Parts: sequence; C-alpha cells; structure tokens
Amino acid sequence: MGLYSSSAGQVLEICRGLLDRGFLKSTEGNVSVRIPGRQEFAITPTSYSYADMVPEDICVLDFALRPITGTKKASIESSMHAAVYRHRPDVNVVIHTHQPYASALGLMGKPIPALFDEQVRYLGRGVEIIDYGPSGTSFLRRKVEAKIGNGDNAFILASHGALVLGGDPDRALFNVFLLEKCSLAYLVSLMASDEGERVARIPLPVREVAFSRLRGDEKKLARLVTEAQPLAPSPKPQEQGVTGETESEFIEVSVADPDRLLGVVAGLAPTPPAPEDQHFAISTYPDVDAVYEQLHALVRQPLRPVRSDVMADYLDYFDTKCHRSKELSDQAKEYIPGGVQHNLAFNYPFPIAIERAEGASMWDVDGNQYIDLLQAGGPTVLGSNYGPVQQKVIALLETSGPVTGLFHEYELRLAELLNRLVPSVEMFRMFGSGTESVMAAIRAARAATKKRYVIKSGGAYHGWSDQMVYGLHVPGTRRFESKGIPRGATHDTCEVYPNSIPALRRKLIENRARGGTAAVIVEPVGPESGTRPVAFDYNRRARELCDEFGALLIFDEVVTGFRLGMGCAQGYFGVRPDLTVFGKCVTGGYPMAGGVGGRADLVRTFAAGIGGAGERAYVGGTLSANPLSCAAGYFALLEMERTNAPVLAGRAGDRLTAGLKAIIERYGLPFVAYNQGSIVHLETSGAMLLDLRMPIRLARELKPRTKMMEEMGAAYMANGLVTLAGSRMYTSMADTDEVIDDALERFERVLSNVEPR
Ligand code: PLP
Repeated sequence: MGLYSSSAGQVLEICRGLLDRGFLKSTEGNVSVRIPGRQEFAITPTSYSYADMVPEDICVLDFALRPITGTKKASIESSMHAAVYRHRPDVNVVIHTHQPYASALGLMGKPIPALFDEQVRYLGRGVEIIDYGPSGTSFLRRKVEAKIGNGDNAFILASHGALVLGGDPDRALFNVFLLEKCSLAYLVSLMASDEGERVARIPLPVREVAFSRLRGDEKKLARLVTEAQPLAPSPKPQEQGVTGETESEFIEVSVADPDRLLGVVAGLAPTPPAPEDQHFAISTYPDVDAVYEQLHALVRQPLRPVRSDVMADYLDYFDTKCHRSKELSDQAKEYIPGGVQHNLAFNYPFPIAIERAEGASMWDVDGNQYIDLLQAGGPTVLGSNYGPVQQKVIALLETSGPVTGLFHEYELRLAELLNRLVPSVEMFRMFGSGTESVMAAIRAARAATKKRYVIKSGGAYHGWSDQMVYGLHVPGTRRFESKGIPRGATHDTCEVYPNSIPALRRKLIENRARGGTAAVIVEPVGPESGTRPVAFDYNRRARELCDEFGALLIFDEVVTGFRLGMGCAQGYFGVRPDLTVFGKCVTGGYPMAGGVGGRADLVRTFAAGIGGAGERAYVGGTLSANPLSCAAGYFALLEMERTNAPVLAGRAGDRLTAGLKAIIERYGLPFVAYNQGSIVHLETSGAMLLDLRMPIRLARELKPRTKMMEEMGAAYMANGLVTLAGSRMYTSMADTDEVIDDALERFERVLSNVEPR
C-alpha cells in the first residue's frame, strides 16, 4: 500500500460514515478518492461487503483504469469515477450511493429544482437527473461526462441512486446528507400536493441573483481544497510498498490554514504553497491594484531614459562588436520588408543575427553571448533547443520526414495528452498558429451559439486575423491598426476596457439587443501577457457573465498554456473555459504551433475529412498537425511535466522580479517590476500603459515613450540581455539562480545609469 495507505484509509472512513447513517448497505454503491497530485484514484472493490472492508481491499487505479495496487476487482463504476476526476479538477472525492429519497426522485423522473440556499451553495442550482445507462458501462460514463461539466456536486442517476462529489471527504459526506435532506423535502412536497412543484417557483431572476453568489463561494471553497492538497511525492521504485504514510492530508491542510480559507472566500488570491506542493508557475499572484498604482505613477512622471553619454557607449557596442549582424541586416533590407520578419525582433539600432541558442544562452553571428530572456516569445519553457526533445524530433524526421498529409500516431498522442493535462479539453484540433486557432475558436463559437459579437479586452493581442486587429496594444483604439482590413471584418468585434467586469457586463447587455455575444475572448493574465494585469477573480467573474448571457468563454492560452503550469492558466485560476486557444508551447518551440481544445460538442464542429458538411465550421491547413509538430509538442510537454519545468521557470521569474525590485528601490527609480510566474514585466517607459482615456498624453507621449522602450531594449542587449521589446521577459527552466543573478548584475549596470530626476 505504502504511498496509498492514507487514501485507502480515507475511502474506508467515508464508507463507515455512510454505513453508520444507513446510506450504504452491504455492497450498494462505491466510493473513491483522488490520489493527490497523481492521475490515480483509490476505489472500493466490486460486490464486497463494506462492513468487512480493510485498507488492503481498496483498489488503486490510474485514470486509464490500469490497476496499481489491490488484489480485489475494482468497482464496476470505476470508469465513471475516473471520468469525474479527469473532468473536474475541483473534485477529490466521488460517492455513488443508492440513498432512498434521491433514488425515489430518480424513479419519478423529478430533478430537484433550486429549493434551499445551502443546496445551491453546495450541490448546485438544481440536482439534474442523468438518464439511464446500464451500470458500469461506457454509456453511463459518457452520460455522466456530459453533465458534470456544469460544476454541480450532486446528480441523480436514473435507476442507480445518486452521484455526489466533493473537494474533500467531509464535504462529500456532507453533500450526500444534504442531497438526501433536499430530496426528502421535495418528495414530501410533491406528494402532499399535485402542486408540489410550486415550492420551486421563486421567479428565475430572483433566484439567479440570490444564488449565483452562493455558487461562487462554493467554487472558491472547492478550489481552495484542491489547491491545499499536498502533492504526494512520486514513489521512487525502491519505496514502493513502504508503509507509514501521513494521514488525512485533505482535511488537515484545509483546517490548518484558516487565513488561506478566508482569503479565498473573500475573493483574494491564494497565498503561496510550499514549493514542493506547487503545480503552477505563479507562487504569489501580484497585487494588481498596487501594480496599477505604480504604473499610473510612472506614466505621470517625466521620462527617465539611460543617460545620453552612456547610451552612446551602448550604441557603440553595436558598431564595434556586431559587424556581421550589420552586414546581414543591410542585405536583408533589400529583400525583407523592414529587414526583419518578426514584429518582436530586436531591431534597434539594427537586428542582431543569432547563430546558436542553447538553454539560457544565445550567441550572435559575431560570437557575442547573451542571456536569453526572450525565449522565442514564450514557447521554450524547457530552455532553448532542449536536447531530449530535439533527439525525438530528429528520429521522427529520419522516419517519416516532417509531413505526409496522412494521419500519424503523434496526432493522437498529443491530443490525448492535452485531454489528460487540461480537464476542459475534451477534444483538440490542431492548427498552424495562434492566429489561426483564434480564428477557428471564434468561428466555432458563432456556429454553435448562432450569435454575432465577439468581445475582447482593449489592448490584447489575439493574432493578426482581420477580425482581431482591433483595439490592438492601446485600449480604445479600435481600427487604428486596421489598414487593409475591410470595415465589415471588424464590425462584429467589440473591445472592452481591460480588467473591468462592469465594462464587460455593459457590453454584453448592449449586444443582447443586437444579435447577442457569441464569445468573450480573454488572455487569462490580462492583455499582452499581463502587461495590463487582471484581478485574480476577473476570469471567474467573466465566466459567470458568459453563463448569464449565454456567451462562450474562450481562453487565449497561446502564452499562458503550459507556461503557467501543466494545467495552464485555467487550472491556476480554477476557471473552465468552453474553448481554449493554444499556441507556442503546444509544439515546444517547434513550428506550426496552434490548436483549439474544449467542449467536445464545439470542437466536433471542426471535424475533418471528405464529405463533412452542414454543421461544420470549416477549417483546414496543409501543414497543420504534421508529424514533426505533433511529436515535438508531445515530447516537450511530457518533459515539462516530468521536470516540473513551468514551476522551475516560475521560480526563476520570481527571483528575477525580486532582484529587479531591489535595484529599482536601491536607485530610487519610478520603474515597475512584477511577474506572473515566468512572465516578467519591467516597465521603465510606461509606453504600454497609455490609453485613450488620456488622449492628450497619448498623442504627446506615445512616440517618446516608445522610443525610450526601444532604447532600453538596446541598452540591455549591449549588456548581454535579450528581452522582449525592452519591457518583458520570459524565463525558462534553464534559468538557474546563477543565470538570474548574472542577469541582475547586467540590469543593474543599465538601471544605475538612467538620467537623474
Ligand atoms: N494570442 C496571444 C495571446 C499571443 O500572444 C499570440 C502571439 O504572440 C497570438 C495569439 C498569435 O499567435 P501566433 O503568433 O502563433 O499566430
């Protein structure tokens, strides 16, 4: 048992709790608990008297139902339990009982409407009935899968009793009792009068207002318990079978930390877990109000660029040390517009040509070495040109070459892996880039909802498709960058002021009267990778608004996907989008990075193959999902999971940010440093913070502030630091403490040389 003894103990405890109260008799029902931090669960055996059960009888299975421990045959409902754990990260305990009153309602075909506050808070707005599917079959499992995504914690299984979920054993047991209490009350009221259903006739709008808050609280509590679970250490082979596991992790942690509990309920970001328990790159969510205060103060101050004599020295570096880059970039100007192909490429005073990249370093064609804090704009969380993935890619190239046009096993492996890692991804279709994937997600949303508008946050970048080049970089600028794009293409795109839930609500109300909102698309950390960060609960509240207005929620996780954790930003924020856009990390830095995952009914509209028509949302791509991209993504993600790369990269981001803050303080600078894990922001010019709410300042200062940002980028580069446009950095697993400390010394050289006030 070893590693699993405490989980087996919990299963037994729950069974005893149910037996004592008469909910579970002899072999009726089954109980399971998730093994913390693993893709496994402990479950009662099938057809076995629960009164006689001992810990050794409990079976441990992985989510593919492969037995890990236990001599008995696992419950026949195991696949239903596995499905719940895969689809609901907030659930750690599943109880299936044949409790009498809930079962009676199942037989009568009467779902329980919202009756009591506590019912809505803990079980859901109503207790739905899941149609009949024979016990233990994949048919039943699929029916359960289709329902549990609504976040409710209790369901009646027609002819099989009840399915009750909970974040911890206590809560799950409580939910069982609560369900029975509500079932009894409803049953009595139904039987007392033909009009029994009148009890539920609180007018819908009143119910919605009163109960939506309660549901929010429950989700926070559930997330708290999930996050509070300690990650069980991976069993080292020699430790398998060793006993002496700690007891009852779930409960101990949740009550041991009441401040954390109160903080989460109050809508605050969770306090950081111990490093070994960390699943996500963000150890502490930034204090967003404080960040905005500092950013606004920065924008109100005069510019503090690098002193002109020092800047002249830095520019001299390029003239004297970068001859070959200069030659190449002069030639490139003749053949490539602007002399460089990437919007993000460093190009002041001229682009530096890179020859070699490895881990945390880059070398240019003149042999100069740099610390790589660009990491290609985000995809290489493992560090540049990571050897083990490169070898897999080379092996693939030697076998099939990069593309065949036909199905390859790695397509399946990658989609299956995304489904395992990201619970909202029921199905996945791959595309050539983040831009294409955003286009596809919006198309699916419009096809499914038959509604018209798409709402984005002002300033956010969602790729360069016609409909998304709208309100780019600077909130409120609408079609400012839309040259060459027909008006009709952006007509149904709306932008709202970032980080404002009231603004989002107003736009949804406005759209309701004129064709409805098909989707709200957000970058979960805020526009431009969190350059304008959102409050911790912004995404949850956006989800609630989408539900209220019947719009789909699309998470653009092109940057955050797998950079913030293997469960992506949605795992960190505990919010389940309908569709997720992937890019960058999904192919580990190899080409053709894009894809859309999400609810099966939506992703299915992308069905490929000859002959599909009608309901299809048409998408395509000759090179999409080629074997090279799929293999690269598959092996890179496995390596990231194995090495805990997102968390390591996040810690490097924390160290870099702490160091930058210390430098800023030491020299009394108005600059602002903050990070969301491995996404690090260093605002020195405030150019990205100007917006149309201050039109005169925007007109007057955008150019000089952008110029300063460019100069800062050049100053960093001359000191051996590659950044994104002089204001953003992406750290990777390769950024050891030594690398970060070296980078900080170089930053200090630059920042100690800014013009005095
Ligand atoms: N969405 C976001 C949030 C991005 O940051 C980007 C690119 O940086 C995109 C979409 C577009 O992705 P791609 O460059 O692969 O087209």
